[in-house]
Amino acid sequence: DFFMKTWVLPFNKGNAEQKELLGGKGANLAEMTRLGFPVPQGFTITTTACLDYLENQEYLNPSILTEINIAIAALEDETKKKFGNSQNPLLVSVRSGAKFSMPGMMDTILNLGLNDETVLSLAKDSGDERFAYDCYRRLLQMFGNVVFDMDHQLFEKIVADYKQTHQLVSDSDVTADGWKEVIVAFKVLFVKLKQRDFPQNVEEQLLLAVEAVFKSWNNQRAKTYRRLHGISDSLGTAVNVQEMVFGNFWDTSGTGVVFSRNPATGEAGLFGEYLMNAQGEDVVAGIRTPKSIQTLKKDLPKVYLQLKEICEKLEAHYKDMQDIEFTVEKGKLFILQTRNGKRTAKAKLVIALDLFKEGMITEQELIERIEGNDLEEALHPAFCKEDKKEKESWVSGLPASPGAAVGQIYFSADQAVEASKRGEKVILMRAETSPEDIEGMAISEAIVTCRGGMTSHAAVVARGMGICSVVGCENLSVDEKERVAYADGQVVKEGAVLSVDGTTGDVYIGELRLEKNNTQLPLKELFEMLDKQSSIAVRANAETEKDITTAMELGATGIGLSRTEHMFFEKKRLMLFRKLILAQTLEERIAILETLKEVQKEDFKRMYYVAKGHPMTIRLLDPPLHEFLPKNEEEYQETAEFVGKSAKEIKQKANALAEVNPMLGFRGVRLGVAYPEIYQMQAEAIMEAAVESYFELNNWMEVEIMIPFTTDASEFQRIRQLLEERIQEVFHKYNQPVPYMIGTMIEIPRACILADEIAQYADFFSFGTNDLTQMTYGLSRDDSPKIINQYMTHGLMKEDPFQVLDEKGVGALMKMAIEKGRKIKPELKIGICGEAAAHPDSIAFLKDYAIDYISCSPYRIPQAKLLLAKG
Ligand code: PEP
Ligand code: MG
Repeated sequence: DFFMKTWVLPFNKGNAEQKELLGGKGANLAEMTRLGFPVPQGFTITTTACLDYLENQEYLNPSILTEINIAIAALEDETKKKFGNSQNPLLVSVRSGAKFSMPGMMDTILNLGLNDETVLSLAKDSGDERFAYDCYRRLLQMFGNVVFDMDHQLFEKIVADYKQTHQLVSDSDVTADGWKEVIVAFKVLFVKLKQRDFPQNVEEQLLLAVEAVFKSWNNQRAKTYRRLHGISDSLGTAVNVQEMVFGNFWDTSGTGVVFSRNPATGEAGLFGEYLMNAQGEDVVAGIRTPKSIQTLKKDLPKVYLQLKEICEKLEAHYKDMQDIEFTVEKGKLFILQTRNGKRTAKAKLVIALDLFKEGMITEQELIERIEGNDLEEALHPAFCKEDKKEKESWVSGLPASPGAAVGQIYFSADQAVEASKRGEKVILMRAETSPEDIEGMAISEAIVTCRGGMTSHAAVVARGMGICSVVGCENLSVDEKERVAYADGQVVKEGAVLSVDGTTGDVYIGELRLEKNNTQLPLKELFEMLDKQSSIAVRANAETEKDITTAMELGATGIGLSRTEHMFFEKKRLMLFRKLILAQTLEERIAILETLKEVQKEDFKRMYYVAKGHPMTIRLLDPPLHEFLPKNEEEYQETAEFVGKSAKEIKQKANALAEVNPMLGFRGVRLGVAYPEIYQMQAEAIMEAAVESYFELNNWMEVEIMIPFTTDASEFQRIRQLLEERIQEVFHKYNQPVPYMIGTMIEIPRACILADEIAQYADFFSFGTNDLTQMTYGLSRDDSPKIINQYMTHGLMKEDPFQVLDEKGVGALMKMAIEKGRKIKPELKIGICGEAAAHPDSIAFLKDYAIDYISCSPYRIPQAKLLLAKG
């Protein structure tokens, strides 16, 4: 109902819960006021008013106007100042604030309420004429830019020209008379460009500013930001009108931004920066390079202590790391804003764990706060140490957002977007970034700027997006027109390859190699919590010592799939393997198998060693033969030499073995049926390694031998029996039995249908969703992309079923197999080892399946664990 709507609310009437109505900034200002923090007073014009304005063809209805007037009057009473009065005038800031923080998206106007008359009073009351006119010219600049969309470069040019004519270096050299001259030029600019005067009426100033903020909700960059962050267009923004406090008032004033913890690393303790004798946007805009918050201890010791205490209180109140804007006016501290700070994925993890340990949040809240892709992001790459030692950096700046990236440089967001469309990896390099650059930033591998601090636009946005970034490279200049950058006598052209290290702040010419770096993450602690929350474990698909080690560090609870054929990709072994499949007689084969057994046994022992007693599923050979056969004259010759036969013979045999449809051919258990001695050799190697490891480590390995490509119980039963014979021989030889299981992959639809029969003989099932998807769809794994692309273009498929499991078809088959298997054998262990199971969209439905684990590549494990724990 129109009459019940809240158009305007003073800070002292609201609270933090009202983000929808007051926007994030307004709600927090109200909350801080309620809690007694030193907040300059003011009021919020609500998002309801904004929506009403936008819906009514940009018309401020009379009720809104009346309420604004009432609020101004109340603020005048409270501050004992008068808006637009020549004595003791009230000056305000006008800031936008939507429900979700949109850094740099919307605009700010400071010093509103100044005009040709009130500026005199400000000069008199402050005793500083220069200060007053500096404030006034800033108002003209911001007002022109925000309200009338006048290019801020034009204003800057007038200032620059003035300084040049008078041979002045910095803004602080400009005198009161100087600013007066600049102001005259600014006023001329208004008339020239907008055919109107800068409004001297302060009420008019306020209303125009409010309307400008409302309108800016629909500007292009705000829309882009919302699209990129999935924020609804129908929320609207609020406007906060707040009494001005001045950070540019003599040397005992200043302004800054402080985080209650380090937003890049998560480390405890204040982190931030400030400028003495500066106003609001100077810090954020990155025009002057600010000082570290730690030096405030020396500059203004009392203020520092008070600020520290406030940061701690705000953090405890909001139970999260805070990003706080403050201003000191003549030694008195004011808090202008607080919000939950943006942070890197790594910082998110570290902070959540610390807050949990400090008792601020629960285990469940901790898990909710970390998002699916944070963990992947936290495992960001770093450059190889050797490469870093060898190379000298070209330029250095502030390490704004960690990670490492290599790419080609572009000097404008548009060019970057173009290049990325051509498939290039892009590094965006700019003097400084602004909201217009958002799209270019989003597609970049790294962002580098010449100016600005750790809280500049580039730094904040890059950190938020998890993009590697270096800002404030003081020696670097960028010439956007000529499309070159130069520093230290070196010129680098558009398209050149650079390497950017956002963790150290170094930029290199040329390419450095990347290395995965995850050592300092407190993953172990996190995993302990995650594992308690889900009954589905996460294992790894891995077969090399290195990958198993990584998998264990990344929280694998075991190995779900070791593909033994992958152990033959190395040249020498490949030859041995070829010799085996090309052998003509059983004797020939057995001789080679002896050698292979020793090789495999050593492999298994090393694998058991790094898997440290966790369960390990080893799959017997499942070679799509074509991956192993020699393919051309050169390979025939090479193989012939190794095997000791003629190239012609090798070619003949290879041709005889070649299949039209290798993915549906002599794979898996079919190989075992035709050449049982191969599978028997593998069982022997697996179990000998298990017994010997037991002797050495005094610890059982939970070995699970897995038979692939099963279609029928009889086939499985036959192979199982052959394996058991050999296993008993091993136990007899060592006089030591060890536990083991023999199970099967379920990866052919027929096996799902007959799962109850197979379960009579199998100790476990593991779904191979790669093959199961191939065969359920009748869609070749190797040739599918072309077809899937067609289907996606025609809207007949939403997702590639090899990337996200198909719940309807493949999922139904799996459910049936689980049910049938467990009916026969309630304790049947069931897992999924096809990689697609770990895709977030697959996990979304798999977590309701009665399975024991999913198994995926090592780097996906943390994310999978988290998603399962979120429930
Ligand atoms: C599968 O088919 O899903 C599987 C894990 O095995 P592979 O990819 O080796 O066929
Ligand atoms: Mg398979």
